[in-house]
Amino acid sequence: MRIPFIAGNWKMYKTVHEAVVFVKELKSMVKDMTGVEIVVAPPFTAVHAVAEAARNSNIGVSAQDTYWEREGAFTGEVSAMMIKEAGAEYVIVGHSERRRLFGETDAIVNRKAIAAFGAGLVPIVCIGETLEERERGETLAVLDRQIKDGLEQLTGDQIAELVLAYEPVWAIGTGRTATAQQAGEAHAHIRTRLRQWFGAPAAELCHVIYGGSVKPDNIRELIAEPDVDGALVGGASLDLRSFADIIARSRIETV
Ligand code: PEP
Repeated sequence: MRIPFIAGNWKMYKTVHEAVVFVKELKSMVKDMTGVEIVVAPPFTAVHAVAEAARNSNIGVSAQDTYWEREGAFTGEVSAMMIKEAGAEYVIVGHSERRRLFGETDAIVNRKAIAAFGAGLVPIVCIGETLEERERGETLAVLDRQIKDGLEQLTGDQIAELVLAYEPVWAIGTGRTATAQQAGEAHAHIRTRLRQWFGAPAAELCHVIYGGSVKPDNIRELIAEPDVDGALVGGASLDLRSFADIIARSRIETV
């Protein structure tokens, strides 16, 4: 069974102080919540402090990006090994803002995902079509390319651990959510491809989460789709109350 996975992507918001205050409050709000995995992704500057604040809690920490080399003369870059040492367990790779604003290709996403696993991090790999691609009827072909090229060389065991975030670009930060049916169709397609390309056991364990204007009032219908295993939440994860509500509404009963 896949436990719902809810990650908050804070993008370039929150100082170290703000991030730590947020996590301490979240920690007490979710301390008794089982049946859901919770992750926050602060900016690099706050990863270590947030990991310390979240220690011994049910909140995991993610970075928002990584470089693929271990170390070297790469001014401004941060390696997966450094992120791991700072206390994170996850790293977001291939977010559409990185693809669009910083020119990340599927080949780069692939190098970063491999580097993340190499350092003992779990990559949260983002895929998704633009509005133009959807309108041209290319959604599934775009997803196929992003999965094939972005996850190349990964093993079935790695796919089982991976978090794959389907984030239609037209739904990110726009207030325009994919309908549960649109999300369900894309997720079912992704699961089919994972099964074909990496084997059934890997496909059954891989978390395929949805991202794009997720809010407390739409999370329930999204997560009710059988192949939607959680959410990557941007804007609504910056507010304590709404993020905690999304987490609470995603939980499944565990025994
Ligand atoms: C995101 O940044 O990954 C995201 C889904 O943002 P938002 O929830 O604000 O659309």
